[in-house]
Amino acid sequence: MGAITAIAPLHLLYGGTFDPVHLGHLAVARAALAATAAARLDFVPAADPPHRAAPGASFAERVALLDAALASEAPPALGGWGLDLRESRRSGPSYTVDTLRDWRAQHGPSRPLGFLLGADAFLGLPGWRAWTALFDLAHLVVACRPGHALGPLHDAPAAVGLCASLRAATSGRWTDQPAALHAEPAGRVFIVDLPLQPENATAVRQTLAQGQTPQGLPAAVVARIAALGLYRDRPPA
Ligand code: ATP
Repeated sequence: MGAITAIAPLHLLYGGTFDPVHLGHLAVARAALAATAAARLDFVPAADPPHRAAPGASFAERVALLDAALASEAPPALGGWGLDLRESRRSGPSYTVDTLRDWRAQHGPSRPLGFLLGADAFLGLPGWRAWTALFDLAHLVVACRPGHALGPLHDAPAAVGLCASLRAATSGRWTDQPAALHAEPAGRVFIVDLPLQPENATAVRQTLAQGQTPQGLPAAVVARIAALGLYRDRPPA
């Protein structure tokens, strides 16, 4: 691992629907903080997630579940974590490119920023609005996810499953050096190689809709879901 030569602390944004937040999300966040030596990670719940069915819980309910998770779980060993609710301050679909532009307008062009996403989301990037602009705004920090192979790691030309446009857009950007994420504000692609996390929110919602208690949620999230009466008697999205 190269020495960290920071121009400013690296910040990570972890976007997603979090419908609900589960232990896989938390493991990904911890692993990304550790692997990149970032100073802080903020979960950025999508107010109006594009390209998918409407969430099973409202934005406020999903934020309440994130609050419960972060309040009950041990803090990360390295760096801090919290919530960034900026997507609730815009109307219309919550496009990531707008979120990152908004963050840049607040924090300026030179602070290193990483956008954390799972391998499934990364492989689908060419379907995102103005997706090639993301590389000008942030590093992409990609977490391995079951069923979405990216390997062999750090060998982009051989990477499995990358379409031609994603391969072209990421060419020359791959790094396995966290120092590279600290030395520039944006533009690199870094893989977080963590043990595969089996949780997925769709399965959690389906289990709850059947009146059962799902695996893979923090106990405090299970309790908050019950207290708010979420995901029951609703068709699982
Ligand atoms: P859903 O089933 O509702 O689509 P999800 O958990 O796949 O839920 P999000 O809540 O939007 O989706 O996930 C937020 C981000 O976390 C995405 O980038 C997703 O790829 C990533 N992610 C979610 N679960 C995992 C997991 N088990 N391992 C790695 N990455 C994950």
